[in-house]
Amino acid sequence: MSDNLVFPGDKIASIEEYEAGHNTFDDGDMVRAATMGEKDLNKETRIANVNHPKLLSIPKIGDIIIGTVAAVMSSMIAVTIDYINGKPTTSKVECICGTRNMRIRNVALVRDIAVLKIVAHLNGTIHAVMDEKELGIIFTKCRKCGGKVITMRDAIKCTDCSWIDERKLSSDFGKNDFIYLRE
Ligand SMILES: [Zn+2]
Repeated sequence: MSDNLVFPGDKIASIEEYEAGHNTFDDGDMVRAATMGEKDLNKETRIANVNHPKLLSIPKIGDIIIGTVAAVMSSMIAVTIDYINGKPTTSKVECICGTRNMRIRNVALVRDIAVLKIVAHLNGTIHAVMDEKELGIIFTKCRKCGGKVITMRDAIKCTDCSWIDERKLSSDFGKNDFIYLRE
């Protein structure tokens, strides 16, 4: 393994020396990796990048994926897969998840982050489910104002405008910092 391999949240450079470039962010003190990849410090432009390996990964049946909700339809959601069994993937493969039988007002919103289980490959489409305790939404925002939400029994409540809504939440909702920042 290369010495330049970094993981999300890893420190790459100080912001006094380098500016955050591709796949990085600046936490006010350090430039950190936003994804797994190869650290690339450009000494001329003083920009720190992380080059993401191109991995074409198709999840298998039984795999647990974490993805970003790309579309919400009346009876299903489409999710772009970001992680397969905890490993990042850049291939941007989509899966769909049926939501027809869920008695929930807004199962998910576009740009929510969901944990799903892959159950089938049918006619070129990858099918997933979210009907287990640990499956479902792990990150969402208020539908009215985009504010931060907290859980209230089976519902969620906006901390800004107090709007009460529903999602199919994962039992891991609210403990998902590891995805973005690994200390
Ligand atoms: Zn709100």
